[in-house]
This record gives sequence, C-alpha cells and structure tokens, in this order.
Amino acid sequence: MNWETVIGLEIHTQLATRSKIFSASATRYGAEPNTQANLVDLGFPGVLPVLNGEVVNMAIKFGLATQCEISPRSIFARKNYFYPDLPKGYQISQYELPIVHGGQLEIVLSDGSAKTVRITRAHLEEDAGKSLHEDFHGQTGIDLNRAGTPLLEIVSEPDMRSPGEAVAYMRRIHTLVRYLGISDGNMQEGSFRCDANVSVRKLGSEALGTRTELKNLNSFRFVERAIEVEVERQIDLIEDGGQVIQETRLYDPDRNETRAMRSKEEANDYRYFPDPDLLPIVIDQARIGHIAAGLPELPDAKRKRFIADYELSAYDADVLTASREQAEFYEAVVTGLGGQPKLAANWVMGELSAALNREDLDITASRVSATQLAELLQRIDDKTISGKIAKQVFDALWNDGGEVEAIIEARGLRQISDAGAIEALVDEILEAHPRQVEEYRSGKEKVFGFFVGQVMKQSEGKANPQSVNEILKIKLKS
Ligand code: ADP
Ligand code: MG
Repeated sequence: MNWETVIGLEIHTQLATRSKIFSASATRYGAEPNTQANLVDLGFPGVLPVLNGEVVNMAIKFGLATQCEISPRSIFARKNYFYPDLPKGYQISQYELPIVHGGQLEIVLSDGSAKTVRITRAHLEEDAGKSLHEDFHGQTGIDLNRAGTPLLEIVSEPDMRSPGEAVAYMRRIHTLVRYLGISDGNMQEGSFRCDANVSVRKLGSEALGTRTELKNLNSFRFVERAIEVEVERQIDLIEDGGQVIQETRLYDPDRNETRAMRSKEEANDYRYFPDPDLLPIVIDQARIGHIAAGLPELPDAKRKRFIADYELSAYDADVLTASREQAEFYEAVVTGLGGQPKLAANWVMGELSAALNREDLDITASRVSATQLAELLQRIDDKTISGKIAKQVFDALWNDGGEVEAIIEARGLRQISDAGAIEALVDEILEAHPRQVEEYRSGKEKVFGFFVGQVMKQSEGKANPQSVNEILKIKLKS
C-alpha cells in the first residue's frame, strides 16, 4: 500500500525584545531564577498588562516578509489552563483574530526544486515559566523568568509531504526570522521550537487522516527523526487494522520513538475569551509602510539574485543565503576576487564551513576573513598555486594568521609551471619506472594516472597538473 505523509508545523519563535510582552522585566537568557519576573509576570491581582509596541512591529515585519495579510485590528485572548509555571491560570494569546494571516513561503528541496508552503497565521502570545525537575530532589522548582517572554507562533497549512520538506520549511522560517532581526533563533536556549502535526493517508485520497501532534521539537534533526518514526508508527498501526487517535505525543530521542502524552484537549476546553485587560491592536497603513521601507533584502530575493548574478545552482544559492552573515561574507569574497563566483561558493561552502564547524564558530567569528579568502582564491585563479596547495595556505591562515603572499613565499608553495622544470621531473619519474613505461607503451593506458601521481608527489604537489599531463603525453609517445 502506498501512503502519503501530511505535515503541518506550529513554530514558536521568541521575539528579540529587551523587555517582556506585557511588562518591563528583562528577557535576557540565563539569569538567576526568578530575578526577571515582576508582579505582572507573577500574575498578581490588580496589576495590568501593558503591550510592548516592539512585538507588534516584529509581527508586522514577519507578515510582510511572508506575504501575509496584516490585520488592521486584532485582539488578545485568554487561554485558560492550570499549570504550576503559569501563575495567572491563563496564557495571553491570540485566537480568533491573529495579528497576521494567510501568507506563504517558498522552500527549496534537496533536489533544488522549489515548493510553496502556505502560512495559515502567526499570532502573538506570552511564554509560560519553566518547571525545573532536575535541581531539587523530590521537588520541582519554578522559574518564572520566562513567563511573559514574547512569542510569535507561526502556523502552517498541512502542506508538507515528507520529513525533509518539514525541515526545509522550518529552516527557511529560522533563516527568515534571523534576517528580519526579530528573533535570535537560538534553539539550545529554546528561542525557536516547533510542534509537528503528522498524519498519513492513502496516496491519491483527498481527505486528511487523523493527526497526532509531536510537541516541543528543538532541533532540525529531531524534527526529521521524530516525524519519520511517527509516520512509520501510524502506517504500521493502520495496516494492522488499528486507528490513529488524535493526541499529543512526545519524541524520545534516546529510544527514537514517540510516546503518547495526553489525548488532544478540545480547543474549547481552554475557554478562550477576549482579554478584558488589553485593548485591541490597531495597525494603520502608515505604520506598515514605514516598516516595509526598512526591511532588509529577504532570503528569497537574495537567493534569486545569487542565482541570476552569480550563476549559482539553486542548491548553492540556498545554502549561501541561509544566514545573512554568510551571504554577506560570500559577496565580500566575490567582490574582493573580482569574479569567479563558483570558486568562491565552493570555498565558502567547503573549506571555510568545515573549519567553522570543526570549532563550532559562527561565520562572524571566522579566523580567515573574506579579504584573506579572496586573496587566496586570487592566487588559484592566476595559477600561482593549485587548489590543493591553497588548502595548505588556508590552514596556515586559519591556525596562525598572516598574509597569503607571505605564506606562499615562506613555504615555497608557488606552483611550478616552468616547462623545463616539469620536463626534468617527468624524465626522472619515467627513468625510475621502466616497467610501467613498457606497460603503457604496450597499450595499458591506465598507467598514465600513476605517472601523473608520481610527478605530483615528487614536486610536493606544486607542479602545474595541466602541464604535467601535456608533457607526460609527449614524452611517453616518443
Ligand atoms: P489546533 O488548534 O488544535 O492546534 P489547528 O487546526 O490549528 O489545530 O492545526 C494545527 C496544525 O496542524 C496546523 O499547522 C495544521 O496545518 C496542522 N494540521 C491540521 N490537520 C492536519 C492533518 N490532518 N495532518 C497533518 N497536519 C494537520
Ligand atoms: Mg496547536
């Protein structure tokens, strides 16, 4: 039986404001427990929330960037439930009238093709506090520093058809909120997390299957693996004659399985109702126009421009524009180099990325600057050094700093292009291997590669490979 996977994501992204959504407490991560929670955050009676205007601007930015409609008027609602880390007994969220709705985002799949995912809505809400189970034996600690931290919850239509698509979408949203500067997207700190709604249906069927919701996935890898195992579970269940029940499940990465957490509450269990303490959010065209005028070039536009201007593949352009900083670094290399965008792309995505990953560094902390990399690639371009030797120079730059020219000179890495010098090397190698020469001349042409290898080795990688090839051919013929 052929099954189709259907996925819709709810992404919670923490907005990068200095103070909370309804109070003046700081939002800085990592402070001592309960040092950043005031009476509003603690839900004391008689205190009133005051909306932080900056969260509205941020939601508008997101809406504009995803072609959403921006509601001229939206309201806050109370979502009622009991939990120790929610002292008010309700979370302030938006329900019937979210601040933005009805947008879309283009994602690029691993084969380079593009796909549009519709965005249902994005609404503002406050985060809850944290229950700390590990620090206290037999007790639970409550830290309310996070209570009242602003979140934008971004809800997609069920448009994804594989775990890979879901991850591509999540990455794209992650990229976007960072470009817009509305979230730091830090997943370790929980600033960017996602609930995945997953169902399966028979291929070709129109109706959606019953979904489960996988809660609080905080890494791209977990999203992918959690959906994979959940899809398998649902298919096995149905094929064995069972039925999927709508429920919330938790992904356990250690056992790579999902487990039932609670069956899905009916939405009206939350007794949503408009929050009487808060005025509606009213947004006029002037405010939208002002924000639109200040938007940076967005990842989608940048990606398309990279494809058009630099003739990069869709895949390369997607990778290079994954963060604004990386895209800017790349463009600085191309400018410094005065062309050769493909060579620059290969190095930024290859050697440089690998070095950054090894040391877990952000590109803004790269030990080789864009100017240095451009100078290095220039030397490949003008054939002073080969690509292989350039890697040695790169390592030297990375580890010890210095200047490209100086490193090449000091280590004697200049490529040997002088025909006389290469001829001498070739003669030496042919003389040392009479048996292989015999073989080659009797028709075993494969041996050619062996000679090239020997000459390169003898020259410590410095001989110009093209000249080596040409000269070898001539010598072997004679
Ligand atoms: P709730 O309010 O209960 O969270 P919604 O209807 O708002 O439910 O949907 C939440 C998310 O679930 C959305 O991202 C939506 O696209 C997705 N979704 C809804 N139905 C399905 C389904 N059958 N399969 C997969 N995802 C679904
Ligand atoms: Mg939900």
